[in-house]
Amino acid sequence: MGVIDTPPGLGSALDRRLQAQLDSLRERSLYRVRRAVTGGHAVRMIVDGRPVLNFCANDYLGLATDARVIEAARRAFAVSGVGSTGSALISGHNVEHRALEDEIADFLGCPRALLFSTGFTTNVGVIKALLGRGDVVVADELNHASLIDGARASGAEYLRVPHANVEAYAQALAQAAAQGRDAMLITDGLFSMDGDIADLPALAALTQASGAALMVDDAHGFGVLGVGGRGTPDMLGVRPDVHVVTLGKSLGSAGGIVAGSETLIEYLIQRARSWVFSTAPPPALAAAARESLRILRGEPEHRARLIANMARFIDGARERGLPIAERGVATPIQPVIVGDEDRALALSRGLMERGYWVAAIRPPTVPRGTARLRITLSAAHEFAQIDGLLDALRELLGASSPAVAA
Ligand SMILES: *Cc1c(COP(=O)(O)O)cnc(C)c1O
Repeated sequence: MGVIDTPPGLGSALDRRLQAQLDSLRERSLYRVRRAVTGGHAVRMIVDGRPVLNFCANDYLGLATDARVIEAARRAFAVSGVGSTGSALISGHNVEHRALEDEIADFLGCPRALLFSTGFTTNVGVIKALLGRGDVVVADELNHASLIDGARASGAEYLRVPHANVEAYAQALAQAAAQGRDAMLITDGLFSMDGDIADLPALAALTQASGAALMVDDAHGFGVLGVGGRGTPDMLGVRPDVHVVTLGKSLGSAGGIVAGSETLIEYLIQRARSWVFSTAPPPALAAAARESLRILRGEPEHRARLIANMARFIDGARERGLPIAERGVATPIQPVIVGDEDRALALSRGLMERGYWVAAIRPPTVPRGTARLRITLSAAHEFAQIDGLLDALRELLGASSPAVAA
């Protein structure tokens, strides 16, 4: 029976099944809705028609609305048009794409790099191309969803390691080596929802000893950590075999990049299906990312301001007794873990009423029982805005039961 034959009001069998699941999500405070931004996605923005200060974006350097980045995109749109008209292997590869790949590879100190439309498709395409049935993935339990999906879809055996548990990594890699199977250790560099960093020196030592490959997704560390913003691997003196960064975070554009050896990139060009069978991104987005990279390289003041803002937030949170995570390395991702989904939502709503946009992050994005406010800092924030957020947080957290520290 086609949908068209369904009596009005009853819906299809599919809709009824989906509606039951939606109802269940709503009951558990896990239902998600979008808020629409009018105009630019800067610190000061208009959300659902009202002005707020944004404290949940990944635009760590404030480059998404930088006039020069916008102008670079505008110029490239005028020269290259909007769409790339095809996949990179057919008609879609533009000199802007190639120049961006070369410049990112040079920045990261890798021989080659390859541009995908998004970070998500980068991870899925890369992992599926590199691993298959009989191989082994050893992966942190808090890895980004795209890493999990790519690894699951590859058909490789998936060994999920408790967060940051080096001993568990060692055991999993030893098991794969003893079985003579090809293995790849896959981890975020800077974890996207927790804001802590992977122990890459220990993990690199393990992969080298066992003959496994090391893949690091540094979507959030890139542009922020390490010398000049080269990222988490640079900061920790590690060179991954497969190094993924994204263009939609600190560079304020959109896209994903995988960097590595000449051989790796040539192999991916032949085999990464999400790259081969997908329209190349608009050349203007690559032009914008190139301008952002130029700014990142030439103007250290943006990173310096971000670092000062991180310190302002961390010191201010301590002074006010707010429950932020204590860690060795300061990062722009500062979760306030509250545990309960309802509570996270209520806090987020309370902040919004006070003019601060901080999203409540709930399962399945984070493990059950660890719902949180994920506060992110940007070079574009002012100290007074950060202080205002901290005061609002103290007021809200003080007004209800004490929060649980991470
Ligand atoms: C955002 C993110 C991605 C996905 O990148 P997009 O370009 O947004 O698709 C991948 N990995 C990590 C760790 C991320 O935070």
